[in-house]
Amino acid sequence: MLAYTYLEQGQFALCEKPKPQLKDSRDALVRVTLGSICTSDLHIKHGSVPRAVPGITVGHEMVGIVEEVGPDVVSVKPGDRVTVNVETFCGDCFFCRHGYVNNCEDPNGGWALGCRIDGGQAEYVRVPYADQGLNRIPDKVTDEQALFVGDILATGFWAARISEIKPEDTVLIIGAGPTGICTLLCVMLKHPRRIIVCEKSEERIRFVQEHYPEVLVVEPENCLSFVSQQSNHGGADVVIEVAGSDDSFTLAWKCARPNAIVTVVALYDRPQVLPLPDMYGKNLTFKTGGVDGCDCAEILNLIAEGKIDTTPLITHRFPLREIEEAYRILENRQDGVIKVAIKG
Ligand SMILES: [Zn+2]
Ligand SMILES: [Zn+2]
Repeated sequence: MLAYTYLEQGQFALCEKPKPQLKDSRDALVRVTLGSICTSDLHIKHGSVPRAVPGITVGHEMVGIVEEVGPDVVSVKPGDRVTVNVETFCGDCFFCRHGYVNNCEDPNGGWALGCRIDGGQAEYVRVPYADQGLNRIPDKVTDEQALFVGDILATGFWAARISEIKPEDTVLIIGAGPTGICTLLCVMLKHPRRIIVCEKSEERIRFVQEHYPEVLVVEPENCLSFVSQQSNHGGADVVIEVAGSDDSFTLAWKCARPNAIVTVVALYDRPQVLPLPDMYGKNLTFKTGGVDGCDCAEILNLIAEGKIDTTPLITHRFPLREIEEAYRILENRQDGVIKVAIKG
């Protein structure tokens, strides 16, 4: 089968590999019908994910059809259309039982697919702990509607959930990339009084204004003063930092009102400074990232009910054999690309 493979730093290639086989009684084999490329795939390519194993098939955003299941798999059967979770988790350990599935104690727990074990930019993928890692897609939900459920949409949903948003809140979301938009969609479900999105790219600003006209948009240089004007208590009640750029962490806590919650979803390239003397007395609560992707069934129901729609994010579509071109466009941010869909 065709499998897009991490060869060495800076090099991915489409290779011919044997079709994966079940290795454990709780595994499933999934035929990938639609996949996507995540910024994390680019991080692997550029060598900034030290845990990534050369030779593995990359890709961790995908949906497909179950082809085969191990004897201990109970929640899915061959023929089921499913989303695949970015995270591998056993469901039994201390962390899994508390919903902290990102910290599953299994040696392959957390983000393993397409990083430490073969992923889904391929014709088939083996999914460990299939009862946890797969969710059945409701009949009326299309592959494109379900494509982001297992990764960036799970992240946005989790970020909105842990941020304790109340109806009277002003919520600031920093960053309107694909994960920022998914976060926005999930924050909208909580109906806070005001949502402000901070973004510097003109293209992304236009995207937010076009699709979500009720959301206020501001550029980073005006963010601090704008947020304090738009808030009732001198700053945002909740700040969700999804940008991960050099200045965005500082902007996040500065825009927060005293006693606010600041949720950091972003993955930074460099350490960030937490200047405690400067924020003394502000009494902030910080929550930090690494999605607990255990809400996929609920997210799929919300999609089926028409309450979440991420399809506007899909700007480009390619067959698997042209995945090289999809990467080129995404890496160079050409042609207004937000997300690509890769057809299996
Ligand atoms: Zn990802
Ligand atoms: Zn576990």
